[in-house]
Parts: sequence; C-alpha cells; structure tokens
Amino acid sequence: MRKLFPYLRPYRLRIVLIVTFIFLQVLGNLYLPTLMSEIVDNGVLKGNLPYIVRMGGFMLAVSIIAVGFSITASYLSSQTAASFGKHLRRDLFAHVQTFSLEEIDRFSTASLITRTTNDITQVQQLVNMMLRMMIMAPLNCIGGVLMAVYTDAKLSLVVWLMLPVLAGVIVLVFGRASRLFRLMQGKIDVLNRVLRENLTGIRVIRSFNQVAREAERFDRANADLTGTTTRVQKIMAALSPALMLVINLAVIAILWFGGVRVASGKMEIGSLMAFIQYVTQLLFAIMMVSMMFFMIPRANASANRIWEVLSSETRIRNPESPRSEPQAAGLVEFRGVTFRYPGAEAPALSDISFVARPGEVTAIIGGTGSGKSTLVSLIPRFYDVESGSVLVGGIDVRAWDQEALRGEIGYVPQKSVLFSGTIAENIRAGREDASDEEVREAARIAQALEFIEQMPNGFDAVVEQGGRNLSGGQKQRLCIARALVRRAPIYIFDDSFSALDFRTDARLRQALREAVSDATVIIVAQRVNTIRDANQIVVLDEGRVAGIGTHEELLANCQVYREIVRSQLGEEVTA
Ligand code: ADP
Ligand code: MG
Repeated sequence: MRKLFPYLRPYRLRIVLIVTFIFLQVLGNLYLPTLMSEIVDNGVLKGNLPYIVRMGGFMLAVSIIAVGFSITASYLSSQTAASFGKHLRRDLFAHVQTFSLEEIDRFSTASLITRTTNDITQVQQLVNMMLRMMIMAPLNCIGGVLMAVYTDAKLSLVVWLMLPVLAGVIVLVFGRASRLFRLMQGKIDVLNRVLRENLTGIRVIRSFNQVAREAERFDRANADLTGTTTRVQKIMAALSPALMLVINLAVIAILWFGGVRVASGKMEIGSLMAFIQYVTQLLFAIMMVSMMFFMIPRANASANRIWEVLSSETRIRNPESPRSEPQAAGLVEFRGVTFRYPGAEAPALSDISFVARPGEVTAIIGGTGSGKSTLVSLIPRFYDVESGSVLVGGIDVRAWDQEALRGEIGYVPQKSVLFSGTIAENIRAGREDASDEEVREAARIAQALEFIEQMPNGFDAVVEQGGRNLSGGQKQRLCIARALVRRAPIYIFDDSFSALDFRTDARLRQALREAVSDATVIIVAQRVNTIRDANQIVVLDEGRVAGIGTHEELLANCQVYREIVRSQLGEEVTA
C-alpha cells in the first residue's frame, strides 16, 4: 500500500483541505455537548426561556456549519479517491502496453484485467475511507477523552474501565473475521476461473454435453464462496450489537455513578448529559478505526498485486541507439537460434538456422507443437532468443527500434484478431493513411473482395467485437488484407490459409505471387499443397530443423517431410 502513496502526491492540496474541514467539523461536534449542558444547567433548570432560545439558535448554527464541513469533506475525499483510481488505472494500462508477450504470459491476461479493475477499486475505497477517518477518528478519540476528563475527571474512570473490554471484543471478532476474509478472496479467484473457462469454452462444453458437469463445478465454487461469505457476515453482524452492548453498559454505569454525583451536588445534570455524549463519540470513533484496520489487509493485497505489475520492467527494450533502417531490405536470417518460453523446461526451438530472401517464398512446415508459431514470433521480437540471433534486414532484432522493426513486417497471426469497427477500419489498422483504393486492392489480393461486396454496406459493414459476425475463413482473409495494406518488405503468414478452401487458397497464393513478388514471404502451413511451390521449405520437428530444401529435394532426402507428404497426399506422390 505504501508504495502506491506517491500516486496521492498530486492531491496534496486537496488532502490538506479535507483534513482542515474534518478538523473543523470535529471541533464543532465536540463543542455541541458543552453547549447543550450550558442550556440545560443555565436555561432549563432555571426556567430562563430567552437564554434557551439564544443558545439554542447558536447551537443550531454550530451544527449546521459542522454538517456543511462534513459534507464538503466527504465530497472532496470521494472525488480525490476516484481521481486517484483513474490516475492509477491509466498508469497501469500504459505500463502494460510496454510489456512484451513474455510479461503478459507471466501475469496472464485475465489477471491483468482483474488488477486494472477490481484491485484498483479496492485500493480506491480504502483511500476514500482513510482520507476521512485518518484524522477524524483519532481527533474524536483524543477530543472525547479530554472533554470527558474536563467535564468530570472522577466519572471518566468508568471510561478507562470500558476501553479494555471494547478492545477485547474487537480483537476477538477481527481475529476470526480477517482469516475468513483472506479465504474469501481466494474463493473469488476460483469462481472467476471457473466462470472464465466456462465462457471461453462454451462451444466445446455444449458440443461435448458438458453443460451439467460445468454447472455442477460452478455450483460447487459458488456454494463454497457463499458459505465463507455467510460465516464472515455472521461474525460481522455480531460485531455491531456487541459493541452497542458495551457502549450501552458504559452509559448505564455512567448514569448510575453520575446520578449519585448529581444527587450529592458534585455534578450538574447538563454535564452528565454532555459526558454521555462524549463517551459515545469516543466509542464510535474506536469502532470506526477498527473497521478501517479491517479493510487494510484486503486493500493491501490488492495494492501488492497492482505494484507487482507496475514494478515489472519488460526485458524487451530498445537499445541505447536503436537502428531504424535496414542494411539489406527484406532479408530475414536465423543464426543458431535457441529459444525457451519463460519457465519452460525444454527449449521450444533449438539451433535454428536458415535465411529467407526477398523475392522468395520460404515455407515452414511441421506437426502441431513443432514450434512454427514460436519461430515466426521471434522475427517481430515478441520474445528474445536465449542464444543465437535473429536478423531482419541484416540487423539483429535486438539492435532495432521496435516500432521501425515491426514497420518492416506484415504479420498475420495464427489466430485471427479483428477489432470492433468497420471492415475498412480493420484493414486500415495495417496502415492508417492507406487510401480507399489501396484498401480495396489489399482486399482483392486477399480474396476478400467478393464477400465484402456481398455484405450490406460493403467496406463500411460493421465487424462485431472479435469478428463474431464473420466466418473463420473471412476473418483470416481480412487479417491477410490488413497485413498486405502495409506494403512491407517482409510478410509472415502464420497458418493463415488453414480456414480457406483449396480453391481460395490457390487463388490467394497466385494473387500474392503477382502482387508482392519482390517481398520476403514466410508462410507457415500445415498443408503440403499450400507450400509445394515455395522456393525453400524448412521442416520443423520438435523445435529442430529436420530439413531445408525444395519440395523435390526434401522428398528425396528428408524422412520427416516424406511422412508429412505421405499422410496428406497418399502414396502415389512419393512413389
Ligand atoms: P506450432 O505453431 O508449430 O503448432 P507452437 O510454436 O505454437 O507450435 O508451440 C511450440 C511449443 O511451445 C509447444 O510445445 C507449446 O506448448 C509451447 N508454447 C507455445 N506458446 C507458448 C507460451 N506462450 N508459453 C509457453 N509455452 C508455449
Ligand atoms: Mg502455430
């Protein structure tokens, strides 16, 4: 929590204002019982009506002013806390943008979302509470004690006796509740996980008739959370009456001993009434402080989760003097590259070497999990290699300015990602200043023109969130068009033709050959058909290069390739 305090620095002035207002409000509240005792002792008991009216009016004015201060302070502190939350959220978001995929993998997307929303809300609530309580509660405590002693020192003995009892009750309740609260946070996490898995996997769950099993899993997590919450709430519900009991017992004791003192003329009735009010104020202040201490562990856990993200520095950063121009445009080279995902035991890629040249098509083929996607994700430097080096345009990717490096590449990810907006906007995400004509041309090459023109609004048709309203093949073609509109010297297609039928696949490759004939094209594919005309084919097997060559060369001397071909095209081809 303390680490996030610098985020409160811009609000120094407002915090001073809040503290001042609360200070004035507490002063007013401490003054009121004394005023009241004056009215009772000098007005009511002596039957002095003008005095009662005059002092009563004054008392009313004091309380109105105190309420005014209190409202202003509440308003300011809520506003400050909300603004603090906004500031923190903005910084957290900006910081996550600097992360490489490595850090995002490490935290997981879901957790980053929770940290940016729920965790910040927890901290924000504590800040709001602290801004108000941090001065009000101690002031009320000290003021209450001083005024009680000042009003009647002997009677304040009762208060000293009451305090340990009160402390005992609070310690007892919070000791049990805070343990349950920690448990509760863990169970919220479990519930979130079950729900997330369920919603993202809804198609699989339905098609495999797992709905009942999933519902049961959710019910179990839900019931577990409910059980713990109920137990916490039961304990918390007992707290208020228990504290009220202690307070009321204190009031009875004061009335008892105070009554004796009034009867023997050592104390006036008004003073006794004021005394009771001071003691009540004091005990309520203690209650509020304990409530706050109870919020702290929870907000603290959230603050730590936020700080964890804010203090993580991405390992993928621009060098001191980054390069932004290639030495040899379009050239992509892997030199003995070994790469391991963070925390993984075995490397995903071992000792990969090959060169992809401009004007050529380099294909990468291999079974699922052989490391094809991993390999191409090293080219835009989504991850850093463990050893060896990846060169783009003749320069190590680690020496590049990241933005310039990515500007050299038109990348089509394996999983089609589209954003809500129109079709034209989605394609233009590749290059913002592309003209309508260029957008159309990219769509034509990507074989997307036909279906776009059949849509009600053509290029202005709306793509829903994640491209829900499009088929897999349509999404793939839009992603291809988005990459093509960049007119980059290097294109990477990560399994980008997998959802296309054979005819569209063939037509797209034909159009590509004509349109980007001088670019370096790297095609990851599962289908031999897609890549058999490539200038060179890199065969991957369990993260290693099993062979490099043309279709014919590999058929002649690469066992792994022959098996892939045989499984897809049948015996006659290899024969
Ligand atoms: P392919 O694209 O050939 O199907 P991938 O490159 O996606 O294969 O995966 C290669 C290996 O790396 C697999 O064993 C996979 O489990 C692992 N892997 C892929 N992505 C990650 C990741 N983000 N974190 C950890 N391991 C990963
Ligand atoms: Mg892949």
